[in-house]
Amino acid sequence: MPSSKPQGGDPDATGRQIAQDLATRLAKGDRRAIARGISLVEDGTRRGRSLLDLIYRRTGRARRIGITGPPGSGKSTLVHGLAQSLRKAGERVGILAVDPSSPFSGGAILGDRIRMPSATGDEGLFMRSMASRGSLGGVAAATYEASEILEAAGFDWILIETVGVGQSELDVVELADTTILVLVPESGDSVQAMKAGIMEIADIFVVNKYDREGGDRLIRDLEATLDLSGWDRGGWHPPVEKTVAVREEGVGELLDAIGRHGDWLSEDPARHERIRAEKISHRAKVLLNRSLLEKVWSEGAIDEQLAAAIEPMSKRELSPYRWARTVLERLTYNRER
Ligand code: GDP
Repeated sequence: MPSSKPQGGDPDATGRQIAQDLATRLAKGDRRAIARGISLVEDGTRRGRSLLDLIYRRTGRARRIGITGPPGSGKSTLVHGLAQSLRKAGERVGILAVDPSSPFSGGAILGDRIRMPSATGDEGLFMRSMASRGSLGGVAAATYEASEILEAAGFDWILIETVGVGQSELDVVELADTTILVLVPESGDSVQAMKAGIMEIADIFVVNKYDREGGDRLIRDLEATLDLSGWDRGGWHPPVEKTVAVREEGVGELLDAIGRHGDWLSEDPARHERIRAEKISHRAKVLLNRSLLEKVWSEGAIDEQLAAAIEPMSKRELSPYRWARTVLERLTYNRER
């Protein structure tokens, strides 16, 4: 690749220098550097990747908590309460709010964040809304990377709040050590429908808005479903916690449950190592897949090749199977020469 040759005014060298400076400032907890770093990874830039590469050795120490659940279930309020309690205990807390379903709603989420009084003036608290800004791999990838930036900046806890029940939430789960599913009494009817999918991802259930009618029924339903399902979690039985997030009730108990899950995760070193290895392996594969996709689509003028192949494919003179194989063979051939 000619662009990587070192020479005067080399843009790559400048990019690496910028990433290096950012990494140094990040390590000191510089908030502007954190914000800039997250923007770089959100935009899927090469500089962002250099930065991630540089800071990797400073990651892996924070507790990463995923909080998911339907819109309006009280996730933001709960995250706020958790953050407050952790701050009181002297812990540094980073919050990432993800809205994968609507890449353009960043502004709306941010609006919610600004209402949080503690967002201002506290050096130990950092909040950021994550919106998909075209980075390949989407918002889940950017969130993962943003969490690494926060870790490198010395945050002890990363709270990742995400809406809904789609693939993006499952991706977010990949990066969380502990996943919390927030439900409300009104979710009662959907527990049965839900159990096949999202229930498996939860390490802890929260019945929020417990001040409302139907909380106990939901807890009974959840516990019955959990007992019935009997899936093997190596001894972890997901607890069901009740909270009234608006009054910060139950937040302490929820933190205790999070602590117990953390203890369980680390009590068996071999299992802990295995889970960690699985996550790293998965992560490396995701990154390799992303690099491959980028390479294929950027180097082979594939778009032009595809445009030229549409007509023969529509006329059934060329099969898409053969086309895909030929494109790949040509790329492989080019690289070997
Ligand atoms: P999110 O969309 O899941 O992040 O939900 P929010 O945190 O924005 O909360 C949605 C609404 O529910 C807000 O008006 C909150 O004030 C309200 N809310 C949150 N927790 C509780 C609770 O425990 N009880 C009641 N009654 N309302 C709550």
